[in-house]
Amino acid sequence: MVRRPAPEAAVRAAVRTVRGDIAPEALGVCDAHDHLFLRSPRLPGQELSDPAAAAAELAAFRAAGGAAVVQWTPHGMGRGAAELPGLARESGVHIVAATGLHQAVHYAPELLAGVGADLAELFVAELTEGIGDTGVRAGMIKVAGGFHGLDAHARWTMTAAAEAHRATGAVIGVHLEGGTAAQDVIELLCGEQGVPPRRVILGHLNRFPDPGMLRRAAETGAFLAFDGPSRAHHATDWRLPEALRALADAGHGAQLLLGGDTTTAAARSVNGGPGMPHLLRRQRLWLAETLGPELVTRMLTVNPARAFAAVWPPESAGRRATGA
Ligand SMILES: [Zn+2]
Repeated sequence: MVRRPAPEAAVRAAVRTVRGDIAPEALGVCDAHDHLFLRSPRLPGQELSDPAAAAAELAAFRAAGGAAVVQWTPHGMGRGAAELPGLARESGVHIVAATGLHQAVHYAPELLAGVGADLAELFVAELTEGIGDTGVRAGMIKVAGGFHGLDAHARWTMTAAAEAHRATGAVIGVHLEGGTAAQDVIELLCGEQGVPPRRVILGHLNRFPDPGMLRRAAETGAFLAFDGPSRAHHATDWRLPEALRALADAGHGAQLLLGGDTTTAAARSVNGGPGMPHLLRRQRLWLAETLGPELVTRMLTVNPARAFAAVWPPESAGRRATGA
């Protein structure tokens, strides 16, 4: 019997961490959306900017069983790129950084004016060469929609994200404002721009737990991120287990991701908030009561491994960051 060659198998997908590319199965228990560093004019006095505090939060996450964190802090919001490899090495937690751009309100106008006309080129450079002069490469593209719609800034950033995806294979993670406008995002990214739905993560869906909307979002084939116990959403938080169960029952369990989304210093566990460990210390167990432990484990391991793995361009495939 002639064995057929498997050309696909020779092209290995990898998760691009701040210390280099790793096999997807090496990612481990993953907080699929969180922040170690974040700065926004919308959150004055709550900046995540202290490396020692980030290290303490990572250590607490590690102690709760965490192995990987994806930081969805995009360009120009104080990502702490230079700090991330050392934090990853010292904590033993894989960290994935982001390129991309948030809503315009999260930037000073002069910063946006300074990113240049070719936004896709900036995103690609941060994914393949490094962020600034750090040599630390991003492993995903983060962009943002608006409340039940997309303004010109969102369309500009998403069009650039699609172009950067086509050049690199990187997944596009989308902040949905209040969990809304998922269909507008899919129509733009996948309909107009041709990005495969499985290369899009719709974030913050926990904030809009309309069963019909969630089902329609799932039927597109995109990944669905339920990320945000770090801030109280009293009207929606308690609906999360049933919303996830309905999606799993409809056959969408492989598309579900979980994250903490710690966006303020006060929300950190080391300051008495839920922070990054809450996802594993409490929420994992609560969700397991409704969903069963096996599905929850898949949502924390194999699902993020598939979501963030990409077949990166060959010119950078052999490169390894030193983590210095
Ligand atoms: Zn976030």
